[in-house]
Amino acid sequence: MTKLEQMLDEAGSVVILGHVNPDGDCMGSCLAMYRYAKKRKPEARIWVCLKNFPEKFSYMDGFEEIKEDAGSQPFDLCICLDCSDKERLGEFAVYLESAKKSICVDHHVTNTGYAQENVVAPGASSTAEVLYGQLSEEFLDREIAECLYTGIVHDTGVFRYSSTTVKTMEIAGKLMDMGIDFTKIVDSTFFKKTYLQSQILGRALMESIRFMDGKCIFTVVKSQDMEFYGVEPKDLDGIVDHLRTIDGVECAIFMYEIDTHVYKVSMRSNYVVDVSTIAAYFGGGGHVRAAGCTMSGSIHDVVNNLSGHIEKQLLAENADD
Ligand code: AMP
Ligand code: MN
Ligand code: MN
Repeated sequence: MTKLEQMLDEAGSVVILGHVNPDGDCMGSCLAMYRYAKKRKPEARIWVCLKNFPEKFSYMDGFEEIKEDAGSQPFDLCICLDCSDKERLGEFAVYLESAKKSICVDHHVTNTGYAQENVVAPGASSTAEVLYGQLSEEFLDREIAECLYTGIVHDTGVFRYSSTTVKTMEIAGKLMDMGIDFTKIVDSTFFKKTYLQSQILGRALMESIRFMDGKCIFTVVKSQDMEFYGVEPKDLDGIVDHLRTIDGVECAIFMYEIDTHVYKVSMRSNYVVDVSTIAAYFGGGGHVRAAGCTMSGSIHDVVNNLSGHIEKQLLAENADD
């Protein structure tokens, strides 16, 4: 029995949390955990709390039961998934503080170990992959498989990123074997975009600027652009990955305005730059090839600050050659 299962078996009430602006891995892991916990402990009070999540994940079991507002009642156990630090729990952090016990299952190299028990595998493709290893097969079913597969697909960019391993593929294969409609999951949640999402993507690409001899690229979506196109932050998923795949690019920066002179920054790299250390330096976190943070100042300041760190890493790499 894993630590997670042991803690689950001992709890009369459980709350499951993810990170702010949940992505596919976060949604899939939380909803897989939710159904698993309900199956394993039918008599327990089990909640899953998330906010600002995309409707495209509504095929996952339990989606309709997600609680969007934090209450004040304490839980015996708080399970945090795909969340590297306490702050990223957002308003639901109150549940972590009031819970008798807590466990975090994650794959961020920048995880701070904020829960009582921390199952963190920085090399793993996704939290869904780590979570799979913590669950007993006897309770798995097609619905849980759909959630876990969604998580793996999203965090690997459909099995493309370097974090994809043989183990990732083996787990995905086992999940496929449970009868999930994997084509539909991939198409409807990863590739399909609304007209407006496609338009803002097009605009962001058109306005992108290359620097450092084309090794770096950045683009910005301002609040007024988001208003104009009628889109929200969750509609901007995937823009940074388009930047990353442009020929010659080593490091891609995507930012959108969350307040006046405050930007949510996403970074991606291909081979050399460790973006997690740069994001962590500016108070964020993530993975070696995908990380994010929030930064203040003018667009120029933000890009300048980031490019200093990127350049340093690129120069150090060249010196090694
Ligand atoms: P994003 O660029 O938002 O898609 O995030 C890339 C990776 O970095 C994901 O694994 C995020 O969970 C992580 N990440 C993004 N922003 C932050 C942040 N402010 N603090 C910690 N981790 C972050
Ligand atoms: Mn995530
Ligand atoms: Mn993840």
